[in-house]
Amino acid sequence: MNNDFTKAEKSVYDDWDREHLWHPYTSTIDPLPTYKVDHASGARIYLADGTELIDGMSSWWACIHGYNNKEINEAMARQIGKMSHVMFGGFTHEPAIALGKKLLEMGPPSMHNIFYADSGSVAVEVAMKMAVQAAVSKSGSHEKTNFVTIRSGYHGDTWNAMSVCDPVTGMHGAFGGALPIRYFVESPRIKYGEEWRQEAVAELEQTLRDHHHEIAALILEPVVQGAGGMRFYHPQYLVAARELCDRYGVYLIFDEIATGFWRTGKPFAWEHAGVEPDIMCIGKGLTAGYLTFSAVLTTKDVADTISRGEAGVLMHGPTFMGNPLACAVAIKSIELFEREDMAKRLAHIESSLERLLAPASTLDNVSDVRVLGSIGVIEMKEPVDVGAFQKKCVEKGIWVRPFGRNVYVMPPYIISDGELEHLVTSMIDIVACIE
Ligand code: PMP
Repeated sequence: MNNDFTKAEKSVYDDWDREHLWHPYTSTIDPLPTYKVDHASGARIYLADGTELIDGMSSWWACIHGYNNKEINEAMARQIGKMSHVMFGGFTHEPAIALGKKLLEMGPPSMHNIFYADSGSVAVEVAMKMAVQAAVSKSGSHEKTNFVTIRSGYHGDTWNAMSVCDPVTGMHGAFGGALPIRYFVESPRIKYGEEWRQEAVAELEQTLRDHHHEIAALILEPVVQGAGGMRFYHPQYLVAARELCDRYGVYLIFDEIATGFWRTGKPFAWEHAGVEPDIMCIGKGLTAGYLTFSAVLTTKDVADTISRGEAGVLMHGPTFMGNPLACAVAIKSIELFEREDMAKRLAHIESSLERLLAPASTLDNVSDVRVLGSIGVIEMKEPVDVGAFQKKCVEKGIWVRPFGRNVYVMPPYIISDGELEHLVTSMIDIVACIE
């Protein structure tokens, strides 16, 4: 670690940052504290004053192999030596091809065409555009352009992605009538592990029956609803949703941006149900937290239906499409998975989280504790004060960022048993002190 810091560099709070830089979802007048990070390595984040934190967030689901991975660093450096970027219009390159082959091997068997995009939200925009273009082309009706989704969902911060986020916890309050109006049905009420009842899809069925002529697709996060409430629901919901989408001629989009790359204990969450989507979005862990990048996978049928439509092409083509640096990072990240027994690794993290989190369920201020794969959630009875909670986390040497009533961890998969234990027990100590 570099010891030649000035006093300002060593401080974990930065006045200039506070005055000028926007941080996510915080006020410019009274911002939540932000801590200055100097570097990060493995499952640890080091603040500018030397404070060491065990990471419970994987930087919002992304840094799945931890920070500063030597092999990914080397793969990135090798690719920088060749080219960091080249336009994808009219050119292709080996990293894009090699990554595409890996994604088709890993993804649902019916996936055939891949669109590389810039971020999770943009992947959702692209997926929604795909669905509309394909639905209009297939039906010949310009009415078939709307979407149905489930409440408590989260799909990103761009315009269309926002429109399918939960109407209450999402951004509809701030943007109201400016957002396109979508169909919302109740979020899957049967939890993961409970007994399935078909009545759970009654509202979805009714909505599709009444409005399928104007609906291009159903979009949802399979099995785990992340930022909209950290809910784990019954995989049978996906079986029923697939059947209804087929019956009413509506495409099914899975947003696997958060759930992909082993987070739920399987390579992708669709595997909990064995149900394949027509269109699937991936991001976050795709580049192991190194670069912003995403991909949308779809079937040959959807891709060719778009190409047979009026426009003849998919109407999207971003500057950084297929960025070779991001592809090189993603390839190396997937290779790291291929070398390890990830099912065993995730089963170990899951059982450790279950054991370590169990004491939280006896606390009076906790309403539920749940674990799936490497996601561990403590749901509180009341919303948590994020700033106060994080201050205590930093004092205890851990990094957890709650939102709403959920205090949760989704650590990098390389976290050691000792680190995980310190992370979870410290988090429970903090939770226990909340009045
Ligand atoms: N979909 C889901 C399920 C997500 O969790 C997120 C990010 N939290 C997004 C989409 C948006 O991704 P990004 O922030 O990379 O735009």
